[in-house]
Amino acid sequence: MPLSRPAHIRIHSQALRHNLLQVKKAAPQAKTMPALKANAYGHGLVATAETLADIADGFMLACLAEALELRGAHIAQPLMVIQGAQSDADLQLALEKNIRLVIHDETQLKRLADFKPKSKPRSNSKYNQRLAITLKLDTGMHRLGLAPEKIQSIYQQLKQHPAIHPDIWLMSHFACADEPDNTMTHEQINNFDHYTAALDAPKTLANSAGILAWAESHRDWVRPGIMLYGSSPINTIDRQEFDLKTTMTLLAPLIAIHTLKKGDAVGYGATWICPEDTRVGVVACGYADGYPRSISPMTSVWLNNRFHQIVGRVSMDVIVINLEDTMATIGEQVELWGQHVTIDYLSARAQTISYELLCRAGNSCRSVIEP
Ligand SMILES: *Cc1c(COP(=O)(O)O)cnc(C)c1O
Repeated sequence: MPLSRPAHIRIHSQALRHNLLQVKKAAPQAKTMPALKANAYGHGLVATAETLADIADGFMLACLAEALELRGAHIAQPLMVIQGAQSDADLQLALEKNIRLVIHDETQLKRLADFKPKSKPRSNSKYNQRLAITLKLDTGMHRLGLAPEKIQSIYQQLKQHPAIHPDIWLMSHFACADEPDNTMTHEQINNFDHYTAALDAPKTLANSAGILAWAESHRDWVRPGIMLYGSSPINTIDRQEFDLKTTMTLLAPLIAIHTLKKGDAVGYGATWICPEDTRVGVVACGYADGYPRSISPMTSVWLNNRFHQIVGRVSMDVIVINLEDTMATIGEQVELWGQHVTIDYLSARAQTISYELLCRAGNSCRSVIEP
């Protein structure tokens, strides 16, 4: 293996599978379409698809490039791209690779209406299907989606389009499903039902929070993301309540150990002063590896079967921890997050969400896939 930075992530494949089974338990009537966007929340796009292939009914991606990468890796499941096509060439590619596109605005509708597939090459027998699409309704989030009051007529028109597969799906996305007391989710569901009840089409509404907190949102397909990756989608409920397991561990070795004197300062800005003589360890992981610089003081890491506190600021490549009286040796691996230091704990300490930490570490660190 080529030399790389010492910090690395370990991906726990069995935990990913376990967490998808929790989705199926929570929404037993629905088919599952795990969200593999953003490199599967940092877990590795192709590896995660392969890990889940035999128990997932399809996969959801943000952009066409991600879906094409999966097709290139011989993933045969239904794939749906939530940003849809950005050009005519995208439509053609999606058609050829059998990728379902979400249509979420008027420009995309216009492009679709004008779409004329290239004629079928004689050599390619698979190349005769029509383009699969999903219409996205804006039920209140006001980010992506078509005006719900137009959906019926759009749906009827596209049903007649010769290049479009008649199996048109309908979807929407929740703004506040992670807040079980927020009435907005009810309003979004009602809104969706009001405009789609008459349409006999497969429907999909629920993200992880919808799956766990809003049973009426399950419908035909669910789109789990963060719960697959071992984080609770509901702020006020611990992930253990949902029996979710850790899927990613961020590890880095100790590269120095020393004893500082009472009054010595540690790190940039000299923000931490030893209250007494203190043994500290330096861990080879920093914000360049996706560890958040914004953590509150005294955030924990795990080493040698106990928690230790970070002292001073997080640097680009290193963190300093208080070893107290723990026996530790250079080279030993420190858990920055994982089984003991949960991603939910750390994201709260860093004033962010677990999604951001997982994506960042996944993009910054080499990964080791475990069975
Ligand atoms: C990311 C995403 C999901 C998954 O959301 P989680 O909160 O991670 O479960 C579902 N649907 C859409 C449209 C998304 O963009």
